[in-house]
Amino acid sequence: MSTASNDLRLANTMKALVKAHARTGLWMQNEPIPEIGVDDVLIKINKTGICGTDVHIWNWDEWAANTVPVPLITGHEFAGVIVDMGSHVEGLTIGQRVSGEGHLVGKESRQSRAGKFHLDPETRGIGVNEHGAFAQYLKLNAFNVIQLPDEISDDIGAILDPLGNAVHTALSFDLLSEDVLVTGAGPIGIMAAAVARHAGARNVVITDVNDDRLTLASQVADVVPVNVARQDLKDVSVKMGLKQGFDIGLEMSGNQAALDQMVESLVMGGRIAMLGIPPGKSPVDWSRIVFKAITIKGVYGREIFETWYKMITMLQNGLDVSGVITHRFPVQDFEEGFRQMIGGSSGKVVLDWTGV
Ligand SMILES: [Zn+2]
Repeated sequence: MSTASNDLRLANTMKALVKAHARTGLWMQNEPIPEIGVDDVLIKINKTGICGTDVHIWNWDEWAANTVPVPLITGHEFAGVIVDMGSHVEGLTIGQRVSGEGHLVGKESRQSRAGKFHLDPETRGIGVNEHGAFAQYLKLNAFNVIQLPDEISDDIGAILDPLGNAVHTALSFDLLSEDVLVTGAGPIGIMAAAVARHAGARNVVITDVNDDRLTLASQVADVVPVNVARQDLKDVSVKMGLKQGFDIGLEMSGNQAALDQMVESLVMGGRIAMLGIPPGKSPVDWSRIVFKAITIKGVYGREIFETWYKMITMLQNGLDVSGVITHRFPVQDFEEGFRQMIGGSSGKVVLDWTGV
């Protein structure tokens, strides 16, 4: 084969992290560069974030095995540059730095037609149901593209998806002057705490049982970290001068004990935004919730596109979550990146695709 035809063939393939087999792991392999339709853009990926969802897919747990088709290019947290676009695409340009909403929504449901795209029951996810962003190139509907302003780096661009979860959860209720309890100091919990602070909360307490995560939380945001394995949350809140308890709870852990403690720690009429996913059918003391007149809101994804607007504006206006990125690797070292994530003490792990 001549060098020229080799080049041509290489030009049509790309490296991608693929769920190639129905077992633990991901595999870096050559895949065809996606062909775009008239409404799509082709994005050359610079950076990607590893999500808890990707860890589920890596581990091939029950959820992943029931949800993810094999083979599939994984990943949904990304920043990159538009390198090609379909003939119907307007308002975007080649060379523009972008991220994007990874939930692909329909236009037919009542919710979508009301403009509540994040509630569309037909939603499909890139990197979960459709080919994703752990690749040199991603095809994305232009509707889902988010332009990145110059002051937002590719690293931050690659974590806007989980920051969006944090923003959506934190802004579920008015936080101004309120005392806020965040349960779970994973990356999204930490970012939600930072957002609560930025949005004007009076006190923000974040709980976990992992000291590494709590240390990271106090480095990233002006919050009070509490290790509930050792410290009594009630003591902490009394010392802070809280008379009845916390006004708002942001449940980010999916941990039954954390939710129980949150209900216990809230004021009468308190409000809970719940992003953490409890395992299976978890027991809940409903009478406690009823008698305390507590409101619970389930949170899914990001509001499309109001959350994106708010988060980019906050980032341009003093919100700094850059410290939540604790590890950066060239994508060739993706196995080490996943090892850090599975270890449970890292913040966000960002993979760099620019050197592929
Ligand atoms: Zn994610």
